[in-house]
Amino acid sequence: MNILTAFKDSLLTRHNMAEKWSSGGKPVVGWSCTYTPEEIIYAADALPVMVFGNPESAKLADAYIPTNTCSFLRSNFNSALKGNYNYLDGFVASSSCDNRDKIFDMWRYYLKLPYFHFINTPHSKTRKAHKFFYEEILRFKTSLEETLGKRISASALKNAIQVYNENRSLLKRVYNLRRNDPPLISGAEALEIVLSSMIMEKKAHNKMLKKLLVEAPHRIDPPKDAVRVLISGSIMDNIDPFKIVESVGGNIVADDLCTGSAYFWDMVGSDTNPIRAITRRYLNKIPSAFMLEQKERFRHTIKMAKQFNVEAAIILVLKFCDAHMFDAPQLANELKEEGLPVLYLEWEHSLSGRAQLKTRIEAFMEMVGEVK
Ligand code: SF4
Repeated sequence: MNILTAFKDSLLTRHNMAEKWSSGGKPVVGWSCTYTPEEIIYAADALPVMVFGNPESAKLADAYIPTNTCSFLRSNFNSALKGNYNYLDGFVASSSCDNRDKIFDMWRYYLKLPYFHFINTPHSKTRKAHKFFYEEILRFKTSLEETLGKRISASALKNAIQVYNENRSLLKRVYNLRRNDPPLISGAEALEIVLSSMIMEKKAHNKMLKKLLVEAPHRIDPPKDAVRVLISGSIMDNIDPFKIVESVGGNIVADDLCTGSAYFWDMVGSDTNPIRAITRRYLNKIPSAFMLEQKERFRHTIKMAKQFNVEAAIILVLKFCDAHMFDAPQLANELKEEGLPVLYLEWEHSLSGRAQLKTRIEAFMEMVGEVK
Protein backbone atom coordinates (compact mmCIF):
# COMPACT_ATOMS: atom_id res chain seq x y z
CA MET A 1 0.00 0.00 0.00
CA ASN A 2 1.59 3.26 -1.13
CA ILE A 3 -0.13 5.20 1.59
CA LEU A 4 1.93 3.36 4.21
CA THR A 5 5.08 4.62 2.49
CA ALA A 6 3.71 8.16 2.78
CA PHE A 7 3.55 7.86 6.60
CA LYS A 8 7.09 6.48 6.69
CA ASP A 9 8.33 9.27 4.40
CA SER A 10 6.75 11.96 6.55
CA LEU A 11 8.92 10.77 9.43
CA LEU A 12 12.09 10.56 7.35
CA THR A 13 11.57 14.05 5.94
CA ARG A 14 10.08 15.65 9.05
CA HIS A 15 12.78 18.31 9.44
CA ASN A 16 12.46 19.39 5.78
CA MET A 17 8.69 19.48 6.11
CA ALA A 18 8.87 21.72 9.21
CA GLU A 19 11.53 23.95 7.60
CA LYS A 20 9.28 24.41 4.58
CA TRP A 21 6.38 25.36 6.83
CA SER A 22 8.60 27.83 8.66
CA SER A 23 9.95 29.39 5.46
CA GLY A 24 6.31 29.88 4.42
CA GLY A 25 6.08 32.33 7.32
CA LYS A 26 4.28 30.04 9.79
CA PRO A 27 5.78 29.33 13.20
CA VAL A 28 6.84 25.83 14.25
CA VAL A 29 6.58 25.00 17.97
CA GLY A 30 8.28 21.91 19.39
CA TRP A 31 6.68 19.99 22.24
CA SER A 32 7.93 17.06 24.25
CA CYS A 33 5.20 15.57 26.43
CA THR A 34 1.73 14.34 25.49
CA TYR A 35 0.26 16.55 28.23
CA THR A 36 1.01 19.58 26.01
CA PRO A 37 -2.33 20.81 24.62
CA GLU A 38 -1.39 20.91 20.95
CA GLU A 39 -4.78 22.43 20.09
CA ILE A 40 -3.61 25.78 21.53
CA ILE A 41 -0.57 25.82 19.20
CA TYR A 42 -2.66 24.73 16.22
CA ALA A 43 -5.26 27.42 16.92
CA ALA A 44 -2.44 30.01 16.78
CA ASP A 45 -1.86 28.89 13.18
CA ALA A 46 1.47 27.36 14.15
CA LEU A 47 2.69 23.81 13.52
CA PRO A 48 3.10 21.72 16.69
CA VAL A 49 5.83 19.08 16.27
CA MET A 50 6.88 16.51 18.79
CA VAL A 51 10.62 16.51 19.38
CA PHE A 52 11.96 13.01 18.69
CA GLY A 53 15.40 11.60 19.14
CA ASN A 54 17.60 9.80 16.70
CA PRO A 55 18.72 6.20 17.00
CA GLU A 56 22.38 7.23 16.96
CA SER A 57 24.55 7.59 20.05
CA ALA A 58 24.06 10.76 22.12
CA LYS A 59 27.74 11.66 22.37
CA LEU A 60 27.22 15.41 22.17
CA ALA A 61 24.49 15.44 24.83
CA ASP A 62 26.62 13.25 27.09
CA ALA A 63 29.05 16.15 27.43
CA TYR A 64 26.27 18.21 29.08
CA ILE A 65 24.04 15.81 31.00
CA PRO A 66 24.61 12.69 33.12
CA THR A 67 24.70 9.48 31.11
CA ASN A 68 22.21 7.95 33.55
CA THR A 69 19.48 10.24 32.20
CA CYS A 70 16.67 8.66 30.16
CA SER A 71 18.20 7.80 26.79
CA PHE A 72 15.21 9.17 24.82
CA LEU A 73 15.71 12.62 26.33
CA ARG A 74 19.50 12.42 25.87
CA SER A 75 18.87 11.55 22.25
CA ASN A 76 16.49 14.39 21.47
CA PHE A 77 18.72 16.90 23.30
CA ASN A 78 21.60 15.53 21.22
CA SER A 79 19.61 16.16 18.02
CA ALA A 80 18.86 19.72 19.13
CA LEU A 81 22.53 20.39 19.99
CA LYS A 82 23.47 19.19 16.51
CA GLY A 83 21.19 21.85 15.06
CA ASN A 84 18.48 19.50 13.76
CA TYR A 85 15.80 21.63 15.45
CA ASN A 86 17.17 25.08 14.58
CA TYR A 87 13.98 25.85 12.68
CA LEU A 88 11.89 25.82 15.88
CA ASP A 89 10.30 29.11 16.86
CA GLY A 90 9.77 27.80 20.33
CA PHE A 91 9.82 24.80 22.63
CA VAL A 92 7.10 23.87 25.12
CA ALA A 93 7.51 21.32 27.87
CA SER A 94 5.06 20.07 30.42
CA SER A 95 6.11 18.87 33.85
CA SER A 96 6.07 15.10 33.84
CA CYS A 97 8.90 12.84 35.03
CA ASP A 98 11.95 14.39 36.77
CA ASN A 99 14.19 13.64 33.78
CA ARG A 100 11.95 15.58 31.46
CA ASP A 101 11.65 18.55 33.78
CA LYS A 102 15.41 18.89 34.13
CA ILE A 103 16.07 18.49 30.43
CA PHE A 104 13.82 21.51 29.82
CA ASP A 105 16.33 23.61 31.78
CA MET A 106 19.13 22.24 29.60
CA TRP A 107 17.26 23.23 26.45
CA ARG A 108 16.61 26.69 27.84
CA TYR A 109 20.23 27.18 28.88
CA TYR A 110 22.09 25.82 25.88
CA LEU A 111 19.76 26.29 22.91
CA LYS A 112 19.02 29.68 21.49
CA LEU A 113 15.35 29.45 20.55
CA PRO A 114 13.15 32.57 20.58
CA TYR A 115 10.53 31.12 22.93
CA PHE A 116 10.41 28.63 25.80
CA HIS A 117 7.41 27.75 27.92
CA PHE A 118 6.91 25.30 30.75
CA ILE A 119 3.41 24.05 31.63
CA ASN A 120 3.04 22.88 35.22
CA THR A 121 0.98 19.73 34.84
CA PRO A 122 -0.55 18.35 38.04
CA HIS A 123 0.19 14.71 38.79
CA SER A 124 -3.28 13.95 40.12
CA LYS A 125 -6.85 14.68 39.06
CA THR A 126 -8.42 16.33 42.08
CA ARG A 127 -10.78 19.28 41.69
CA LYS A 128 -8.03 21.63 42.77
CA ALA A 129 -5.69 20.04 40.22
CA HIS A 130 -8.24 20.71 37.46
CA LYS A 131 -8.61 24.33 38.54
CA PHE A 132 -4.84 24.78 38.62
CA PHE A 133 -4.34 23.13 35.21
CA TYR A 134 -7.04 25.30 33.67
CA GLU A 135 -5.08 28.38 34.80
CA GLU A 136 -1.85 26.87 33.46
CA ILE A 137 -3.38 26.30 30.03
CA LEU A 138 -4.71 29.86 30.00
CA ARG A 139 -1.22 31.09 30.94
CA PHE A 140 0.23 29.08 28.05
CA LYS A 141 -2.34 30.51 25.63
CA THR A 142 -1.56 34.08 26.74
CA SER A 143 2.20 33.59 26.49
CA LEU A 144 1.87 32.12 22.99
CA GLU A 145 -0.39 35.00 21.92
CA GLU A 146 2.14 37.54 23.20
CA THR A 147 5.06 35.77 21.53
CA LEU A 148 3.38 35.30 18.16
CA GLY A 149 1.55 38.64 18.29
CA LYS A 150 -1.70 36.90 17.47
CA ARG A 151 -4.94 36.46 19.40
CA ILE A 152 -6.18 32.87 19.68
CA SER A 153 -9.96 33.12 19.28
CA ALA A 154 -12.56 30.76 20.72
CA SER A 155 -13.63 29.77 17.20
CA ALA A 156 -10.00 28.91 16.25
CA LEU A 157 -9.82 26.74 19.36
CA LYS A 158 -13.09 25.01 18.53
CA ASN A 159 -11.83 24.34 15.01
CA ALA A 160 -8.56 22.91 16.41
CA ILE A 161 -10.52 20.64 18.75
CA GLN A 162 -12.63 19.38 15.86
CA VAL A 163 -9.57 18.66 13.67
CA TYR A 164 -7.73 16.93 16.53
CA ASN A 165 -10.76 14.89 17.57
CA GLU A 166 -11.19 13.73 13.99
CA ASN A 167 -7.56 12.62 13.99
CA ARG A 168 -8.14 10.72 17.24
CA SER A 169 -11.19 8.88 15.98
CA LEU A 170 -9.47 8.01 12.67
CA LEU A 171 -6.45 6.67 14.56
CA LYS A 172 -8.78 4.51 16.64
CA ARG A 173 -10.27 3.09 13.46
CA VAL A 174 -6.75 2.39 12.20
CA TYR A 175 -5.96 0.58 15.47
CA ASN A 176 -9.12 -1.48 15.00
CA LEU A 177 -7.62 -2.89 11.78
CA ARG A 178 -5.47 -4.93 14.13
CA ARG A 179 -8.43 -6.62 15.79
CA ASN A 180 -8.47 -8.86 12.69
CA ASP A 181 -6.57 -12.11 12.97
CA PRO A 182 -4.06 -11.81 11.39
CA PRO A 183 -4.11 -8.02 11.66
CA LEU A 184 -4.46 -5.85 8.54
CA ILE A 185 -1.50 -3.68 9.45
CA SER A 186 1.60 -4.48 11.48
CA GLY A 187 2.59 -2.94 14.80
CA ALA A 188 5.59 -1.20 13.21
CA GLU A 189 3.29 0.34 10.59
CA ALA A 190 0.79 1.45 13.25
CA LEU A 191 3.59 3.07 15.27
CA GLU A 192 4.80 4.94 12.19
CA ILE A 193 1.27 6.20 11.62
CA VAL A 194 0.90 7.54 15.17
CA LEU A 195 4.39 9.08 15.16
CA SER A 196 3.64 10.84 11.88
CA SER A 197 0.49 12.29 13.44
CA MET A 198 2.71 13.90 16.09
CA ILE A 199 4.76 15.86 13.58
CA MET A 200 2.41 16.51 10.65
CA GLU A 201 -0.22 19.15 10.06
CA LYS A 202 -3.29 17.37 11.37
CA LYS A 203 -5.68 18.05 8.49
CA ALA A 204 -3.15 16.60 6.03
CA HIS A 205 -2.71 13.61 8.34
CA ASN A 206 -6.47 13.09 8.53
CA LYS A 207 -6.59 12.92 4.74
CA MET A 208 -3.91 10.23 4.70
CA LEU A 209 -5.69 8.23 7.41
CA LYS A 210 -8.92 8.24 5.41
CA LYS A 211 -7.07 6.92 2.37
CA LEU A 212 -5.47 4.20 4.47
CA LEU A 213 -8.83 3.10 5.88
CA VAL A 214 -10.19 2.67 2.35
CA GLU A 215 -7.14 0.76 1.08
CA ALA A 216 -6.26 -1.46 4.05
CA PRO A 217 -9.08 -4.05 3.72
CA HIS A 218 -7.93 -4.76 0.12
CA ARG A 219 -4.29 -5.06 0.99
CA ILE A 220 -2.46 -7.89 -0.81
CA ASP A 221 0.42 -8.17 1.69
CA PRO A 222 -1.07 -8.09 5.24
CA PRO A 223 0.95 -9.48 8.17
CA LYS A 224 1.01 -13.26 8.51
CA ASP A 225 -0.39 -15.26 11.41
CA ALA A 226 1.80 -14.87 14.53
CA VAL A 227 1.61 -14.47 18.31
CA ARG A 228 -0.58 -11.45 19.16
CA VAL A 229 1.52 -9.15 21.32
CA LEU A 230 0.83 -6.07 23.45
CA ILE A 231 3.68 -3.62 24.07
CA SER A 232 3.76 -1.56 27.24
CA GLY A 233 6.42 0.75 28.63
CA SER A 234 8.40 3.91 27.95
CA ILE A 235 8.05 6.27 25.06
CA MET A 236 8.87 4.74 21.65
CA ASP A 237 9.91 7.09 18.85
CA ASN A 238 11.82 4.42 16.97
CA ILE A 239 10.13 1.52 15.19
CA ASP A 240 13.15 -0.79 15.37
CA PRO A 241 12.16 -2.59 18.61
CA PHE A 242 8.73 -3.28 17.03
CA LYS A 243 10.43 -4.61 13.92
CA ILE A 244 12.51 -6.96 16.05
CA VAL A 245 9.38 -8.40 17.72
CA GLU A 246 7.68 -8.79 14.35
CA SER A 247 10.70 -10.48 12.79
CA VAL A 248 10.71 -13.31 15.35
CA GLY A 249 7.12 -14.55 15.37
CA GLY A 250 5.07 -11.71 16.90
CA ASN A 251 2.37 -9.38 15.59
CA ILE A 252 2.09 -6.27 17.77
CA VAL A 253 -1.65 -5.63 17.91
CA ALA A 254 -1.99 -3.30 20.90
CA ASP A 255 -0.05 -0.97 23.20
CA ASP A 256 -0.45 1.52 26.03
CA LEU A 257 2.39 3.80 24.92
CA CYS A 258 2.56 7.61 25.07
CA THR A 259 3.44 7.41 21.39
CA GLY A 260 0.65 4.90 20.83
CA SER A 261 -2.87 4.48 22.15
CA ALA A 262 -2.37 6.86 25.11
CA TYR A 263 -1.69 9.69 22.64
CA PHE A 264 -5.08 9.63 20.95
CA TRP A 265 -7.50 7.40 22.87
CA ASP A 266 -9.39 10.18 24.66
CA MET A 267 -11.41 12.89 22.93
CA VAL A 268 -11.89 16.50 23.91
CA GLY A 269 -15.49 16.66 25.11
CA SER A 270 -17.96 19.43 24.45
CA ASP A 271 -18.06 22.54 26.59
CA THR A 272 -18.94 26.09 25.65
CA ASN A 273 -15.56 27.07 27.08
CA PRO A 274 -12.96 25.35 24.83
CA ILE A 275 -10.14 25.84 27.37
CA ARG A 276 -12.18 23.99 29.97
CA ALA A 277 -12.84 21.15 27.50
CA ILE A 278 -9.12 20.93 26.68
CA THR A 279 -8.17 20.99 30.38
CA ARG A 280 -10.53 18.09 31.13
CA ARG A 281 -9.29 16.00 28.24
CA TYR A 282 -5.60 16.36 29.04
CA LEU A 283 -5.91 15.81 32.77
CA ASN A 284 -8.40 12.96 32.49
CA LYS A 285 -6.73 11.14 29.61
CA ILE A 286 -5.14 7.70 30.01
CA PRO A 287 -2.49 8.58 32.57
CA SER A 288 1.22 8.47 31.82
CA ALA A 289 3.50 6.63 34.24
CA PHE A 290 4.50 9.84 36.06
CA MET A 291 0.87 10.37 37.19
CA LEU A 292 -0.42 9.09 40.52
CA GLU A 293 -3.03 7.11 38.61
CA GLN A 294 -1.20 3.81 38.16
CA LYS A 295 -4.30 1.60 38.45
CA GLU A 296 -6.19 3.56 35.84
CA ARG A 297 -3.31 3.10 33.39
CA PHE A 298 -3.21 -0.63 34.13
CA ARG A 299 -6.97 -0.86 33.52
CA HIS A 300 -6.45 0.63 30.05
CA THR A 301 -3.60 -1.80 29.31
CA ILE A 302 -5.69 -4.82 30.33
CA LYS A 303 -8.72 -3.58 28.40
CA MET A 304 -6.54 -3.19 25.30
CA ALA A 305 -5.20 -6.73 25.81
CA LYS A 306 -8.74 -8.13 25.95
CA GLN A 307 -10.19 -6.07 23.10
CA PHE A 308 -7.34 -6.99 20.76
CA ASN A 309 -7.14 -10.68 21.75
CA VAL A 310 -3.59 -10.39 22.96
CA GLU A 311 -1.66 -13.61 23.70
CA ALA A 312 1.53 -12.19 25.26
CA ALA A 313 2.83 -8.89 26.63
CA ILE A 314 6.27 -7.30 26.45
CA ILE A 315 7.15 -4.43 28.78
CA LEU A 316 9.91 -2.40 27.11
CA VAL A 317 11.44 0.13 29.45
CA LEU A 318 14.11 2.58 28.40
CA LYS A 319 17.24 2.54 30.55
CA PHE A 320 16.94 5.04 33.43
CA CYS A 321 13.21 5.61 32.90
CA ASP A 322 12.36 5.36 36.58
CA ALA A 323 8.67 6.22 36.14
CA HIS A 324 8.09 3.02 34.17
CA MET A 325 10.60 0.96 36.14
CA PHE A 326 8.62 1.58 39.34
CA ASP A 327 5.36 0.48 37.69
CA ALA A 328 6.62 -2.48 35.69
CA PRO A 329 6.52 -5.21 38.40
CA GLN A 330 2.92 -4.38 39.38
CA LEU A 331 1.80 -4.17 35.76
CA ALA A 332 3.50 -7.50 35.02
CA ASN A 333 1.58 -9.06 37.96
CA GLU A 334 -1.73 -7.71 36.72
CA LEU A 335 -1.11 -8.98 33.18
CA LYS A 336 -0.07 -12.41 34.48
CA GLU A 337 -3.26 -12.56 36.54
CA GLU A 338 -5.09 -12.18 33.23
CA GLY A 339 -3.26 -15.31 32.03
CA LEU A 340 -0.76 -13.52 29.79
CA PRO A 341 2.91 -14.47 29.60
CA VAL A 342 4.99 -11.32 30.21
CA LEU A 343 8.55 -10.38 29.23
CA TYR A 344 10.25 -7.39 30.86
CA LEU A 345 13.18 -5.80 29.03
CA GLU A 346 15.27 -2.68 29.39
CA TRP A 347 16.70 -1.13 26.26
CA GLU A 348 18.89 1.78 25.15
CA HIS A 349 17.43 4.30 22.75
CA SER A 350 20.44 3.82 20.46
CA LEU A 351 19.70 0.06 20.46
CA SER A 352 23.31 -0.61 21.40
CA GLY A 353 22.28 -4.01 22.83
CA ARG A 354 20.21 -4.93 19.79
CA ALA A 355 21.51 -8.51 19.40
CA GLN A 356 20.84 -9.33 23.04
CA LEU A 357 17.39 -7.76 22.88
CA LYS A 358 16.54 -9.82 19.81
CA THR A 359 17.74 -13.06 21.44
CA ARG A 360 15.58 -12.48 24.53
CA ILE A 361 12.49 -11.62 22.47
CA GLU A 362 13.04 -14.56 20.12
CA ALA A 363 13.27 -17.00 23.04
CA PHE A 364 10.08 -15.53 24.56
CA MET A 365 8.22 -15.78 21.26
CA GLU A 366 9.28 -19.40 20.83
CA MET A 367 8.09 -20.21 24.32
CA VAL A 368 4.71 -18.51 23.79
CA GLY A 369 4.35 -19.99 20.29
CA GLU A 370 4.82 -23.51 21.65
CA VAL A 371 1.98 -23.24 24.14
CA LYS A 372 -0.29 -21.34 21.74
S1 SF4 B 1 8.73 8.83 31.35
FE1 SF4 B 1 10.58 7.64 31.00
S2 SF4 B 1 10.87 7.56 28.76
FE2 SF4 B 1 9.42 9.20 29.23
S3 SF4 B 1 10.74 11.01 29.29
FE3 SF4 B 1 10.47 10.27 31.41
S4 SF4 B 1 12.23 8.95 31.78
FE4 SF4 B 1 12.10 9.27 29.54
